[in-house]
Amino acid sequence: MQMEKLVSLCKRRGFMFQSSEIYGGLNGFWDYGPLGVELKRNIKDAWWRDMCQGHNELVQPEGAPSTYEMVGLDCTIIMHPQVWKCSGHYDLFHDFMVDCKVSKKRYRFDQVRGKWVARGEQKIFVTIMTDAELEHEEVTRRALKFFNLRNKDVAQLTYDESYLTLDKVAASDRPSVLAPDVNELGTLTDPREFNLMFKTYVGALSGEEGAAFLRPETAQGIFVNFKNVVDSTRVRIPFGVAQVGKSFRNEITPRNFTFRSREFEQMEIEFFCNPNESPKWYEYWRNRRMQWYLSLGLDGERLRLREHDQEELSHYSCGTADIEYAFPFLPEGEYGELEGIAHRGDFDLRSHSEGKLDPKKRPLELERTEDGQPRHRGSGKDLSYRDDLTNERFIPHVIEPSAGADRATLAFLCQAYHEDLQPDEDGKMQSRIVMRLHPRIAPIKAAILPLVKKDGMPEIAKEIYTALKQRFNVFYDEKAAVGRRYRRQDEIGTPYCITVDTQTLQDRTVTIRDRDTLKQWRIKIEDCVREIASLVS
Ligand code: ATP
Repeated sequence: MQMEKLVSLCKRRGFMFQSSEIYGGLNGFWDYGPLGVELKRNIKDAWWRDMCQGHNELVQPEGAPSTYEMVGLDCTIIMHPQVWKCSGHYDLFHDFMVDCKVSKKRYRFDQVRGKWVARGEQKIFVTIMTDAELEHEEVTRRALKFFNLRNKDVAQLTYDESYLTLDKVAASDRPSVLAPDVNELGTLTDPREFNLMFKTYVGALSGEEGAAFLRPETAQGIFVNFKNVVDSTRVRIPFGVAQVGKSFRNEITPRNFTFRSREFEQMEIEFFCNPNESPKWYEYWRNRRMQWYLSLGLDGERLRLREHDQEELSHYSCGTADIEYAFPFLPEGEYGELEGIAHRGDFDLRSHSEGKLDPKKRPLELERTEDGQPRHRGSGKDLSYRDDLTNERFIPHVIEPSAGADRATLAFLCQAYHEDLQPDEDGKMQSRIVMRLHPRIAPIKAAILPLVKKDGMPEIAKEIYTALKQRFNVFYDEKAAVGRRYRRQDEIGTPYCITVDTQTLQDRTVTIRDRDTLKQWRIKIEDCVREIASLVS
């Protein structure tokens, strides 16, 4: 599938728009249109239902070490600035960036890709910011331009086999880098740290005293409320706290549609357990989360669970795995992160209690300045847990499945996009775009269509629409030929069309058409609500 086709469909049919488009847009910010808002809401609702609200605490789920409880939270976006000091975000949440002295553009050091191209004795590293499919063409075009060659001279160029990101190019080779957007070498600065948190000012205080940050993840709201949850509910360990909400990161190079945005939504669980049991819970959550994506229709062939290597892991973590999807905008064989599942040990609760811990030390110790003072003070509150059955007191370990609602939405959209050929009313083959979205997340569950706009058909169709509308997001359409109306629904992923035709007038039955199999069958008008309920649940 070509990504441009999906992007254009999203705009044309109202899934996604660029934010502030009439003013030229704002890079890294996206709005969800009338269909997109329904899709994303259905994904978030499915997650909330499956992970939190619908969780049955009396039944031990398959693969879980025991039963457990789940509750939810909804915390603020702006929190006490000390939260980010103790979480480590204030000191450590940065990416490396490079600036181009000529184009004045800024790039993320580990995201600029390119390859070595040689002409005779001279070898240059040609960078590109293009989609995977066009990479080779773009490298060639840029190299020809740089060496002042014509297309017919392409045989003078020799290429290294593989693409590299800029952080893999030796510092001594940087003068040979041809940066994006310029036609001369060595214009990039050395990499520098760039903190990704958005800063703002609270109240009338303008100086550093009033400085605060927009949260870069929802997780910290859960940690700082750990004691409130334990004290105000009857939850006992093991239990999980779920939260869905906006997060903000001032990404250096937002790109790939909504994949890397500056404002996005996360769906996070912090699962608190006894340290003795945490490896088993980590195992459970990895598999559980993987199954969730499969259950909503992501293709197992394009999805993978990747364990981080030892070097990638923070010292306090006994394991982190990413659930990754082969997004069509990535080069063949590359995957993009949908969700990270991390074993975080007791790092977060201890940091918020004692002060910022040094993630490089094992066992973890309080981070201190050169004169021995604590670097960032914690809340001083005791965030340990006492098991009232065994009287054991411990700081719980945390397993964190952290998913992005926008990345999940994008993955489901990419997976759903299909083109096929179907006969029209006259038997001629017509190409159609069909979004094979799982019925649970499809924005519109059914369209109700009178075959013609007369003979009382619209009245019956409106009666069905009204009955269904009380429970589902359904759509009424009486305009244009019915084949055309079917195709318009296929294109937005509506799984079922209900058609009122001449036979309806005689026996009060209607046809239901399935978007994917194109099978049609008849049911009684009175059974429509029940039928759609069973089909989309
Ligand atoms: P990446 O390496 O892609 O920047 P990350 O490892 O920093 O992601 P986490 O901090 O683990 O991401 O965040 C958890 C989830 O939040 C990610 O798996 C992703 O789904 C989502 N997410 C993170 N950053 C963004 C972003 N800039 N835009 C959209 N979603 C994001």
